[in-house]
Amino acid sequence: MTSPPIFFPRTLSDACEILADYDGQAKVVAGATALSLLMGQKLVDPEALVSLSRIADLDQITVTEGVVTLGALVKHADVDRSEVVREHARVLAQSFAVVGNPRIRAAATVGGVLAEADYASDPPAPVVLLDGWVTVVGPGGTREIAASDLFVGFYETSLEADEVISHLHVPVTDPAAYTSYLKYSSRSAEDRPCVGVAVLVHVGVDGSCADVRVSVGAAAEVPLRLREVEKEAVGHVLDDARIAHIAQAYADALDPIEDVRGSGWYRTEMTRNLISRALANARDTAPRATEAGEKE
Ligand SMILES: Cc1cc2nc3c(=O)[nH]c(=O)nc-3n(C[C@H](O)[C@H](O)[C@H](O)COP(=O)(O)OP(=O)(O)OC[C@H]3O[C@@H](n4cnc5c(N)ncnc54)[C@H](O)[C@@H]3O)c2cc1C
Repeated sequence: MTSPPIFFPRTLSDACEILADYDGQAKVVAGATALSLLMGQKLVDPEALVSLSRIADLDQITVTEGVVTLGALVKHADVDRSEVVREHARVLAQSFAVVGNPRIRAAATVGGVLAEADYASDPPAPVVLLDGWVTVVGPGGTREIAASDLFVGFYETSLEADEVISHLHVPVTDPAAYTSYLKYSSRSAEDRPCVGVAVLVHVGVDGSCADVRVSVGAAAEVPLRLREVEKEAVGHVLDDARIAHIAQAYADALDPIEDVRGSGWYRTEMTRNLISRALANARDTAPRATEAGEKE
């Protein structure tokens, strides 16, 4: 078996041109943690590989005008270690910190985990929770795709074969909001998630919720967010009945995946359980705004 040729373009537009020349038969390679396995198992057989490693500045993390931006080549470990991400998008740091093991986190990239769109991944649910979006470069120019529109099905994104994710963006999290990511693995601590739940709760001056968001990952083909259910909770206190209502709504709406990590029934029960736990933690520990605008 011969290995496919590997190209090292110095710009994103050169990368896209090579991808276009191969008409869908070439693959981008970033950290190679997923691609090497897929090629080894002959699940993909690209005619060429296009490495992003020599393209400048794709490993930067910045915060400008209320938006945290991560280059596609930022490693998972660097997301976890970044003071900028920890301060302004903490739930993102939490989710990248629990991916696989240190060896995987030292190689796997932000662009890779999003483009791979493996349902059993940790970061996509928090990215959707934060209303993140990606910048994508293709032969025709640049476009932006909301994370909720990027993941469209089983290992499927809305990217064209000759498009490359250049950056991930997430709005800075309101410092008054509580966020958390709960990962549940059914086989080993280093395994991919069976279910992952990300929540954001902002408790207002009167103790009612000013913002409630829940995003469920790894349980279905794509992350699940029920914006109508979230909206219904705004203006209400997050009591046990409200939490049970939200958790039940997500369990009812879930179209669960069945695999070695859990049956559809099990994933549905774990989804209900994790949402209840995450929202109860939020209620019990979320900072409460005061009339003076300070946090308790
Ligand atoms: C042992 C093991 C354990 C793991 N455990 C977890 C876990 O617990 N949680 C979890 O979330 N994930 C887990 N993973 C998955 C890991 O996080 C992914 O393999 C990784 O995120 C892919 O990133 P990469 O940079 O290595 O991508 P690559 O392997 O280089 O590429 C993956 C895919 O994305 C495409 N691609 C890469 N970058 C771009 C880009 N910028 N634009 C367009 N397309 C691109 C490639 O063409 C390829 O199709 C695990 C993986 C392994 C091997």
